[in-house]
Amino acid sequence: MRLEEAFGYVRHAIEGGRPSNAYFILGPTRGEGMGLAVKILQLLFCEAADKPCGVCDGCRHVLEHIVPDVFWIYPELKTRVIAVDAIREKIIAPVGLTSQAGGWKAGVIVGAERMMAPAANAFLKTLEEPPPKTLFLLLADTMHGMLPTVISRCERIALSEEAPFTEPWHGDALEILAGPLGRTALERFAVSSQLVAILGDMAKKAEEVIDAEYKAERDLVEEDEGEKNGKIAALYREYRRELLVTLAQWFRDLLVLRSGGDAALLKNAKYAGTLRERAARLTLAQAIYNVNAVEELAAKMELNIKEDSLLAWTMDRLNYGI
Ligand SMILES: [Zn+2]
Repeated sequence: MRLEEAFGYVRHAIEGGRPSNAYFILGPTRGEGMGLAVKILQLLFCEAADKPCGVCDGCRHVLEHIVPDVFWIYPELKTRVIAVDAIREKIIAPVGLTSQAGGWKAGVIVGAERMMAPAANAFLKTLEEPPPKTLFLLLADTMHGMLPTVISRCERIALSEEAPFTEPWHGDALEILAGPLGRTALERFAVSSQLVAILGDMAKKAEEVIDAEYKAERDLVEEDEGEKNGKIAALYREYRRELLVTLAQWFRDLLVLRSGGDAALLKNAKYAGTLRERAARLTLAQAIYNVNAVEELAAKMELNIKEDSLLAWTMDRLNYGI
């Protein structure tokens, strides 16, 4: 959806007195996603007859983030996440208070995909039953990391496709998945070893990126080893999530084809031939089992279980339709 079209749609709902409690805006949070959020807020706080005028105090204050009834939260700089304490303090508590100007209140969560599960869970109740005349805007660059329980309580506006994957890992992982797969225990082990090698690359890259960041800021900050390691770990988790999403999409594609879905629904249309061939050799139950197994893998990775054995175990239990 284009920005103007999306804005027109939300405006219609607000002016008709029936806006959703929350809009989930998928799009560049430093670009169009933020642009749409600002326009919606200006519509609520504009003082002109023809809203939003973009020039009155109300409109300018939205841009400057100084409207007392609009509450913003961003991921923390150091950890790149939105933690539970932060969301309680910056969103949940203030929207519970009476509006200062007697009108609308809004809570804006920028980088909603960075909400950690405890933060998202703490926020759910407010999201579901917001105080009167309160609007939530959740902005995210990507769906990765968004909890389904949060998304299902929002109206979704997609301004762009999901953020692109970091290459070459995504391409490499797809090549591995499309390669010889699972006929023998040895093949299955080879696949998991190749995926583990990608994780190794990711860990190295995360360290390099953060190292470079610290070197660039050497004069500004005193090096804090614990903080630095935390940043490396956070960035590595972001990279790793891309690999897990690649795996999940691959096995979801197989399920789509196995259940008779259209090839237009495939995430990896480039591999349609291989996917079709493999899907034909799976039962529906096996295809579903695979999707669940890969989702379970993603959940277990978060628990700091040893990654290589986890991957080996998962690749071993998948159905390859042989
Ligand atoms: Zn205005």
